[in-house]
Amino acid sequence: MAKVYITPKIKEWIEKRIKEDEVIRYMDNGKDFINDDEIWEKLERHKNPDPKQVRDVLQKSLSIELLTPDETAVLLNVKDPELWEEMFETAKMVKKKVYDNRIVTFAPLYCGNLCVNNCLYCGFRRDNEVIKRRVLTIEEVKREAEVLAGEIGHKRLIVVYGEHPATDANYIRDTIEAIYSVKVKTRNGYGQIRRVNVNAAPMSIDELKMLKEVGIGTYQVFQETYHHKTYAEVHPKGTIKHHYQWRLYCHHRALEAGVDDVALGVLFGLYDWRFEVMGLVYHAWDLEKKFGIGPHTISFPRLEPAANTPFIQEAKYKVSDEDFIKLICILRLAVPYTGLILTAREPAHLRRKIISMGLITQTDASTKIGIGAYSDRYTEQELERQQFELGDTRSLNEVIRELAEMGYITSFCTAGYRCGRTGDKIMTLLKTGREAIFCKLNAILTFREWLDDFASPETKAVGEKVIQKEFEETKEMVSPKVYERLLELYRRIQNGERDLYF
Ligand code: SAM
Ligand code: SF4
Repeated sequence: MAKVYITPKIKEWIEKRIKEDEVIRYMDNGKDFINDDEIWEKLERHKNPDPKQVRDVLQKSLSIELLTPDETAVLLNVKDPELWEEMFETAKMVKKKVYDNRIVTFAPLYCGNLCVNNCLYCGFRRDNEVIKRRVLTIEEVKREAEVLAGEIGHKRLIVVYGEHPATDANYIRDTIEAIYSVKVKTRNGYGQIRRVNVNAAPMSIDELKMLKEVGIGTYQVFQETYHHKTYAEVHPKGTIKHHYQWRLYCHHRALEAGVDDVALGVLFGLYDWRFEVMGLVYHAWDLEKKFGIGPHTISFPRLEPAANTPFIQEAKYKVSDEDFIKLICILRLAVPYTGLILTAREPAHLRRKIISMGLITQTDASTKIGIGAYSDRYTEQELERQQFELGDTRSLNEVIRELAEMGYITSFCTAGYRCGRTGDKIMTLLKTGREAIFCKLNAILTFREWLDDFASPETKAVGEKVIQKEFEETKEMVSPKVYERLLELYRRIQNGERDLYF
């Protein structure tokens, strides 16, 4: 149980973190792309939207185009319940058009909770004495990956780190390599993590280039809040994280470094949710404008209670379940091509509801957020090792069964990334709906693998029905030659071959 002490050596490390030239180069006339007054002015200007205007905006979403901030402000101001029904319906259609009935699952892997920052809302903040601090060794990281890939059946992780010299970019690189090196025998084949996404502090272009070389998946950094004043208040002065623009432009740096996929997010509850949705849309626009690539995914964590973190109880902008669903719907409509991630921070009943509304594309399961929690045998009640409390601790097997009962196929496909279908290429494919075919075929193949390797008999039974339906639909959509190839790969997977894809 300890604070994180800032020794003179760590202080020196902190002082060298921010490279101003890697911030200023992206700014326009010394200004960042979030103008707080302009956001409020737009929200105000569209206060009473005309139903015709709302319907025009919905048509634009259906053509899978990024909405402008003004159009987003129109949706954010809708009050009429009937119009809201139309918005939910359209959002569902958008998801179906771009991602069909697929859901992607993943798990977070926390590697270290040492942190030099002092974010008021986070259990890992350096002044929090009640947290047990720990950084996994590379061997321990491998053991975690073995459980995730060999026992649970995950193929995709988001690896999470505090900001500290003990978990710097070199350590992140070593952990990514370690995770990819793990290969575990399973019931009918072998398990492996095929995509390692990273949630870590903002990094420099050189560091991001290094991570690109070892195969980083998506680089995910949440701005937490786009509101400048609130940002400064919750990230105390003197910490690295206090620097708003160093964080705001980290995705720009990643894209410049050649990392293809970047992910945005807001920690909802720090400031007004409508303002934050506008911030996300402005962010997407700036990435599109400067790199021609929008966010690969957007996350929308809400503030969760954390050990010894009174800030959370006092937070003024907590988002109700009703508003939470609305903001997800608007994100679906405003950035129609992006993946939307709903995590196990939320309780099972709410996740079930949101997933059944057809708004999101990715979710986690069998989630543990304690350091070393997958391979250690400690209980999730031991809050002092966690960053915050989880709302849904169901297993991957249970979540997949429920998804299948709702008609979703869980896709473990990571082929697109390895065939270069990333960045601007995937964006074009997503926007035109052409990604759908590759994804549909690979979803069938990877779901087959998972059912054979990890499913309980009950999950398998429901899963088989989903696969059957997918085969029927696919037959109508692809040429006989492609269908033949699908059958061939499918049979080979049934015979124990793994990682076959289109
Ligand atoms: N240290 C890195 C950073 O801050 O970007 C990455 C790890 S940090 C643990 C990952 C995310 O956890 C943060 O971006 C924040 O949005 C989220 N988080 C922190 N405290 C939280 C809380 N009390 N409830 C929900 N999410 C929280
Ligand atoms: Fe550290 Fe990230 Fe938590 Fe802030 S949110 S205290 S930077 S781990």
